[in-house]
Amino acid sequence: MIKKGRKKPYTDRGINKVPCLRCGKPSEHQWQICSLDNRWFGICFECDIKLNKLVLEFMGIIDTAPILHEYERKQLNEYRKNYIGKKDK
Ligand SMILES: [Zn+2]
Repeated sequence: MIKKGRKKPYTDRGINKVPCLRCGKPSEHQWQICSLDNRWFGICFECDIKLNKLVLEFMGIIDTAPILHEYERKQLNEYRKNYIGKKDK
């Protein structure tokens, strides 16, 4: 069964309460899926990286490793800033 998603994007605060469309973990990001009525769906950190890899490869972008490495590094920094940093304070 296809999950419903949302017509409007989730808020930054609300996205963590949404289960990842692929694996069910708390979402970190969201993707708008055109073929599913342009709805927005939550996606967790790991699945977002995998999906980006898939998209780059599908688009025929060569040498995806450095692009993905940089993307993952930025996302990890963002994740730490948003969650780990807040917990420490
Ligand atoms: Zn996931």
